[in-house]
Amino acid sequence: PPLANHPILNSLNDAQRRAVSSDAATVAILAGPGSGKTHTLTSRVVWLIDQVGYRPEDVVVATFTVKAAREMKERIGKALGDGREKKIVLGNFHSIARRYLAAYGRKIGINQKFGIADDGDSRSIIARICKRREVNLDPVAVRSWISKKKAKGDEVVTKPLGQKATKTSGEKDLDECYEEYQAHLKKSNLLDFDDLLVRCVELLREFPSCVSNIQTVLIDEYQDTNGVQYELMKLFAQRHKRITIVGDPDQSIYGWRSAEIQNLWRILKDFPGTDEISLEQNYRSFDAILRLSLLVIQQDKKRYQKALKPVHGRGPRPVLRRLKSASAEADWIVSEIRRVIMMSGSMLTFNDVAILLRSASLSRHVETALGKSGIAYRMVGGKKFYERLEIKAILDYLRVIYQPENNDALARIINVPKRGVGDVTIKSLLEEAESSSLSVWAVLTKHCRGDRTAKTKIPKPMEQRIAAGLIRPLDNIRRKMEEAAKPGGAVFGLVEMIEQLLAALNFQKYLKDTHPNEHEGRWANVEEFLTLAGDFVRDLKESSDEELLPELEGLEQAKEDEVLPRFLANVSLASDVQTGDDGENKPLVTISTIHAAKGLEWPVVFVPAVYNGSIPHMRSDDNDEERRLLYVAMTRAQSLLYLSCSLFSTNGNGERNQLSSFVEPLHRVFAPKGPCFDRPVMLEIAKVLGRTLPPEDAVFKALPSMFNPEDNIFPVDPEESQEVPAAGTEARTSDDAPRAKRPRLSNMS
Ligand code: ATP
Ligand code: MG
Repeated sequence: PPLANHPILNSLNDAQRRAVSSDAATVAILAGPGSGKTHTLTSRVVWLIDQVGYRPEDVVVATFTVKAAREMKERIGKALGDGREKKIVLGNFHSIARRYLAAYGRKIGINQKFGIADDGDSRSIIARICKRREVNLDPVAVRSWISKKKAKGDEVVTKPLGQKATKTSGEKDLDECYEEYQAHLKKSNLLDFDDLLVRCVELLREFPSCVSNIQTVLIDEYQDTNGVQYELMKLFAQRHKRITIVGDPDQSIYGWRSAEIQNLWRILKDFPGTDEISLEQNYRSFDAILRLSLLVIQQDKKRYQKALKPVHGRGPRPVLRRLKSASAEADWIVSEIRRVIMMSGSMLTFNDVAILLRSASLSRHVETALGKSGIAYRMVGGKKFYERLEIKAILDYLRVIYQPENNDALARIINVPKRGVGDVTIKSLLEEAESSSLSVWAVLTKHCRGDRTAKTKIPKPMEQRIAAGLIRPLDNIRRKMEEAAKPGGAVFGLVEMIEQLLAALNFQKYLKDTHPNEHEGRWANVEEFLTLAGDFVRDLKESSDEELLPELEGLEQAKEDEVLPRFLANVSLASDVQTGDDGENKPLVTISTIHAAKGLEWPVVFVPAVYNGSIPHMRSDDNDEERRLLYVAMTRAQSLLYLSCSLFSTNGNGERNQLSSFVEPLHRVFAPKGPCFDRPVMLEIAKVLGRTLPPEDAVFKALPSMFNPEDNIFPVDPEESQEVPAAGTEARTSDDAPRAKRPRLSNMS
């Protein structure tokens, strides 16, 4: 077929087109932010399926977040137009691995009914282990130590203690915690996030036939893959060795989670003949934003340089504001958001605004300020919603319904609603489970059957409450599920099940009794949860995941048709939940961590708390990674970029914040008086966003800048103010910076 004719190529530039249609086995696209890497990757998927003729179920696409996966699926779906995108093996590494383990994990001894321990679960298991062993270690640190070991592929230590004589006692403690943690997961039939990847590697190594159908693997945000993910990628591609990777070393921000930038150079060694393609045009941001971002990233002298030129005009200069307190800063952000929207005649809406934070803990002031002025927002990158106590309790009930042996979940809900079960009893139950082969559930069931052989003694009235309020209702639900699973069984949907559970627990009354002042809001969350569950079931029905798994000769394929485990896995793996909106289409301001904002873009971006200690963060020992984080945040902005910080820190010790050392040397190039939104500026913004500006008389004319100049502790004399200078080689035209002068990727290893 004539190659250049597929409509997907029409909207692309030459380099992008070459990347999309390359027939090289391995294609590597390394390019800066906003250069269309994700766009190109998506187009390549469409090309491979629609033009080259790969079956969608033979294509693996790995993205970094759940949200990115969803957006990509939508875009591919639009281009294909016939629903084939639903068959693509598309998701983040964890969810792809989970799917394969659920289907084939039995082959490597994984109990098919495994659950997932999310980061919070893992931490609390470790905290308990540390406490019991009386070792003085920070559970968070132990968790990340274990995680690093697993990511590197280090096996759990099983040598007898005597052989570890050379280790310090601290190392010994860690090893032993690791060992006990692993044993605990095994017993509770749980896999943690790292296990999902590690065990999937094990599966694919031993049973390559599970992925023998896979034709090609494509990976976005490749700079943040870790060792295990790299291995996984290779295993998925083992048959045909066809891989496309897309990434940007300057946006590598997960080193703290063992991401290895070396993977970039490794792929070139492991897959010789890789077609390296660079994309050099930035389609996302105004030149002023791009220049400033490049000035920041170029402070790192060791980096691999790439060309990046704007396709858009100069645009308004970014703004830097310094206010007295964090709450003044948040108030200013809110008033500025309102001003921008008004001045645009509502061409811009709250949906176009993002507030990007170095750490989620900074969100309090911003949330308060938005709340005060009645602006709705969504939180991305936090699990806030699922962590609310009423939602957590329901989830724990569902976990116990699914896995009675999940002692941790059961221990959390045994006294919710109150059944008079005290901490002493719970501790004794957990200990009994730890030291015998019985689960807590089994011990309780024994009691309720009148069998008094269990070690833990439970007084009769408590026993009755547990039997009536916990054991029997959950057994009932399980029985109904089993019946529904039989051919011809009555339908017992997820939502129906949750409703039955809530009724059996008298959950609404429980909330009323325990939270008399806020039970309505909490019940609203429960209703929201039911909606989420309903949406999940609907989505599941639409996509036919089962088909993605190949029929294997001699291996009867595990049926993965249970809705509940999938729902629970989905909750555990979700990195972003959108809630808090009453109407479907109500515009919302986005609050996100910088980490979770990777790959996304907004017309208006605020980056508050740009001070030393926040960014670079005090607990980080990698200054370069912190700088890359700021770079990622700044390059999310399309039209307007605001940086700000407060003079006094929030901890109230009266210490003064210092402007981030990444920004300090550049403070003269920010707009001295804040942006002025005259009509030409707004027209330029409209052009970049491809929107139409309302006629002049519909727009507020004389809305002054809302910040008091006195508030700005960081005045720049307009005389001293400078235009944003072009950054290093990167903003030059391609004539000034001939390709040959830049190192090729292949020369970097
Ligand atoms: P990041 O590094 O931040 O992930 P990216 O390189 O993946 O950025 P994309 O998100 O794919 O960049 O693209 C940035 C924006 O530019 C998107 O809005 C995209 O639609 C647009 N874009 C990409 N390529 C083109 C093109 N050839 N013509 C017009 N717009 C384009
Ligand atoms: Mg991208």
